[in-house]
Amino acid sequence: MYSITPYSRLSRAPGRLHCPCRATITTRPSTATPPRLDDVTLMKPINIAIDDPSSLRSTWSHRAWVATGFASVLTSLAKSVAAAADSGSFVEPLLAAYVGYVLADLGSGVFHWAIDNYGGPSTPVFGSQIDAFQGHHRWPWTITRREFANNLHALARAVTFAVLPIELLLNAGGGAASHAFVGTCAGCVMLSQQFHAWAHEKKSRLPVAVVALQEAGVLVPRPMHQAHHREPYNNNYCIVSGAWNGVLDEYKVFEAIEMAIFFRFGVRPRSWSEPRSEWREEAEDTTTA
Ligand SMILES: [Zn+2]
Ligand SMILES: [Zn+2]
Repeated sequence: MYSITPYSRLSRAPGRLHCPCRATITTRPSTATPPRLDDVTLMKPINIAIDDPSSLRSTWSHRAWVATGFASVLTSLAKSVAAAADSGSFVEPLLAAYVGYVLADLGSGVFHWAIDNYGGPSTPVFGSQIDAFQGHHRWPWTITRREFANNLHALARAVTFAVLPIELLLNAGGGAASHAFVGTCAGCVMLSQQFHAWAHEKKSRLPVAVVALQEAGVLVPRPMHQAHHREPYNNNYCIVSGAWNGVLDEYKVFEAIEMAIFFRFGVRPRSWSEPRSEWREEAEDTTTA
């Protein structure tokens, strides 16, 4: 019989699987060839020592999507300010904005955990992102080489398609608080890729203000995210502020969900396996960078 014991409490003998149960691993072994960046891939890393460095640059398409994403977010925030000015109260929209920021961090963690652990490159809709996240684990430093719009365009496009219909619905009865929540949450989701890139950057290369925000916990701190890229590769998934990482990891929330999914569907997450090549970071080749 299977034991309902979180795998993290089991012994981790080298070369053996953590989970005592046998199940078919649904993921495809990664190839040795680094993935290429394309226009529709989220977090797609590049081994620039091997691949084409020009694919790290922003295209006009990337810039256009980032512009529409920012326009959507700023429209929500402007409506919130206008409604708050009309009502004379900024307390509710400020609280709603804070809730949006907090939930964006939780959302970033849930999404990151899901695509880190389930599915594969052929999964509908999310396949390219799943593949890209696996590539990010292997060549994490490439995220710091990407230009701003190149890094953000996929999330900006998602935000554009999500926020515009929500704002149309809110026009019928939305107040300052609802616009503030939508604008802040969507803005944090869109910018999470930039926060993620900053978490991988050398401290000496970051603006002083960014370092201060990271150290204050407003943005995901660099040491916190770097722990995600070390064994056992099953924690610190949140990348906006990282505020949820402590409680999610301490109470093993994702591990409990993984166990529930395994016993219900027989699908094992990638993080239950001993780190294989796709989880291990490869050292940057600086001789040709
Ligand atoms: Zn990850
Ligand atoms: Zn990372």
